[in-house]
Amino acid sequence: MKTAIKVIKILKKAGFEAYIVGGAVRDYLLGKEPCDVDVASSALPQQVKALFTRTIDTGIDHGTVLVLLDGEGIEVTTFRTESSYSDNRRPDSVEFVQSLCEDLQRRDFTINAMAMTESLKVIDLFGGKQDLTSQLIRAVGDPDERFQEDALRMLRAIRFSGQLGFTIERETLTSIKSYASLIQTIAVERVKSEIDKIFTSLDTQKSLKYLRDSRLTIFLPAGELFENDWTFYRTNGHAIFGWFYLLHQQNQPFSAIKDYRFSNAEKRVIEKSLELVALTTWDQWTLYSYSIEQLIMAAQVKKVNMELEKEKALLPIQTKSDLAVNGLDFMQWTGEKSGPWLKVWLEKMEKLVVYGLLTNEKETIKDWFVNEYHRHV
Ligand code: ATP
Ligand code: MG
Repeated sequence: MKTAIKVIKILKKAGFEAYIVGGAVRDYLLGKEPCDVDVASSALPQQVKALFTRTIDTGIDHGTVLVLLDGEGIEVTTFRTESSYSDNRRPDSVEFVQSLCEDLQRRDFTINAMAMTESLKVIDLFGGKQDLTSQLIRAVGDPDERFQEDALRMLRAIRFSGQLGFTIERETLTSIKSYASLIQTIAVERVKSEIDKIFTSLDTQKSLKYLRDSRLTIFLPAGELFENDWTFYRTNGHAIFGWFYLLHQQNQPFSAIKDYRFSNAEKRVIEKSLELVALTTWDQWTLYSYSIEQLIMAAQVKKVNMELEKEKALLPIQTKSDLAVNGLDFMQWTGEKSGPWLKVWLEKMEKLVVYGLLTNEKETIKDWFVNEYHRHV
């Protein structure tokens, strides 16, 4: 907030209007630390760039410049409207405007449509403060129009309801029900990012209920996922835990994974955790072979009662590289060249060490190896 105020002062000194806007004002009034502070200004992107030494063109076509100051990044966006949404998603063009009022009018919900001066005076043109007090998510203007302009807003309403624990105002909710099918026009990446936020929010259950009640689940990719039971589940701030919790209840989890274009890292952790859920027993080798994230995620749904972190840390080795010997040693001891035999023996030894049946010391391993090798070859 301090840096944003500094940015505003610099802009104002140069003759422009500038305000803190959007989520930061909402969070400030709620007494919460905002994640990021956005500034709206009458200055055009090039004029913003001319005033600060370090800037990044993060979204210059939409009027946004990231100003780097005092080790922080503040997004400064030129006052704008979004004209003609021919496809229910992104505006066809943005039009820069001279008034804050028009800029606030294009914003999604009353609680997100307030501005604040550098002296923390709140400008509230649409009853945002009142809605914050009543804990309501209400569209700015006519909800039908607003959701037709940008259908992602429907999902944003539901996301904010879970994040803030707020109710969706009646007309706004009715409108979401009417236009639910338009969610199909939104890029899946944008949809996933909102659902990620639902999973890490205060009251996920509330958002999931709205998803069902509004019939958005009918039109979302793999929407049946959100019909699954969520009672008593906690993601502890990790969206992937939420996805996993719902996916593991599915017969065909992989089609949903495909639909939502999970990253390779996300795919891997989900696949691995599904493997873990399918295992009947977990032993030291299991703890060794899977990452702590995979283990915790699977343990939560499988209700495995183990002190995973502690028990994993107690394993004789954590990775292959902790072994006291390597393939070269085996080659030296046998005089053989590298080949598939090496992998077989290394794995055998690795297992014995992990299970604590063989001490991880070069001499001990050598004795065991030479003895066993000669019995087999
Ligand atoms: P968060 O704390 O999750 O970042 P936020 O309110 O800052 O919440 P952002 O997605 O960062 O949400 O958007 C910043 C602001 O931009 C919003 O508060 C809102 O005023 C406006 N906004 C964002 N997305 C839309 C949209 N699709 N339609 C209209 N206004 C939007
Ligand atoms: Mg934000």
